[in-house]
Amino acid sequence: MGIEVKNINKRFGSFVALDNVSLNFPPGELTALLGPSGCGKTTLLRIIAGLEQPDAGQVFLDGEDASGSHVRERQVGFVFQHYALFKHMSVFENIAFGLRVKPRNQRPSESEIRKKVMSLLELVQLDWLADRFPPQLSGGQRQRIALARALAVEPRVLLLDEPFGALDAKVRKELRRWLRRLHDELHVTSIFVTHDQEEALEVADQVVLMNKGRVEQIGSPDQVYNQPASPFVYGFLGNVNLFHGRVHEGVLDAGGISLEAPDHAAARDAQGIGFVRPHDIEVERYSADAEGIVARLRRAHAIGPLAQLELERADNAQLIEAVISTERYAQLALQEGETLVVRPKRLRVFVDEAV
Ligand code: ATP
Repeated sequence: MGIEVKNINKRFGSFVALDNVSLNFPPGELTALLGPSGCGKTTLLRIIAGLEQPDAGQVFLDGEDASGSHVRERQVGFVFQHYALFKHMSVFENIAFGLRVKPRNQRPSESEIRKKVMSLLELVQLDWLADRFPPQLSGGQRQRIALARALAVEPRVLLLDEPFGALDAKVRKELRRWLRRLHDELHVTSIFVTHDQEEALEVADQVVLMNKGRVEQIGSPDQVYNQPASPFVYGFLGNVNLFHGRVHEGVLDAGGISLEAPDHAAARDAQGIGFVRPHDIEVERYSADAEGIVARLRRAHAIGPLAQLELERADNAQLIEAVISTERYAQLALQEGETLVVRPKRLRVFVDEAV
């Protein structure tokens, strides 16, 4: 089922939590709502669910205006960061709960409930835990049970609010891969709130970047990462180096180096900033004729396949972060303290008011 929100506005007192948000969530896809704390992700999710009313705007479920319909009629399944499973009920009963509270004429028989719960437990790969109680489960197991419980009533939409937020990094990683596989099996239209960019980029079909109640960009993980629409998106989706300078007729003069900025062919001596990811920086040993920015290698540490270099620009002491392969690092035999020349291989320039 597709979801569409149109011109959603929401204030809390004088604070604008959502500012004219319009978005499309395609049927069967997993969309990540990504943004810093307080940008309005949860508020949007709650409005889609019907737990919160917008001040203006509409929510369409499957093309129908659902703005007036109750949370129960919207048939959404939820998983929250701290999903309170019923502690006094077994895992089996927790999952069965949504089926047992259905009106009598829609309630499945006992044997149907058993079949359904066991198949959900198999789906989340925890059938061996059916008789345990929530306090006897790990955090990751609890979230998988929470998901099975949300799926039991066959929701048309699945809303996940930082479902793995409370778990440690390793379990989080495992669970997000598991969630992706599960989604590929079920294809329930899902919206996943997170402030973790790595999680969003790895799991989602579509990523919505939010900032201060507005949508900054929407696109595939590849699009938002490789073609960020704004300085905010650039900065939010990973480490980035900024090179300040003047942009003139498609060239950014960043002090010591001229960098192509073809998007700004019409610029006339405008202020601009070049955004460069650490892995898009080339380094070589200093020589008088090498073109680039002169910098001193302050610190280097090579763990695994990548070496991280912390460099300090000779002209203005700005720190530059570069990531090169450990192979290249070994080849160069770099020493901390030595002088290097760095060159952005790929950059994106934002001019004037955009910066
Ligand atoms: P986080 O990642 O921290 O959960 P979020 O992006 O999900 O953040 P929201 O929970 O949607 O953010 O909140 C958006 C803003 O609205 C925040 O500044 C929050 O303080 C405010 N807000 C949310 N709910 C209420 C409320 N019931 N009353 C007043 N302000 C609220």
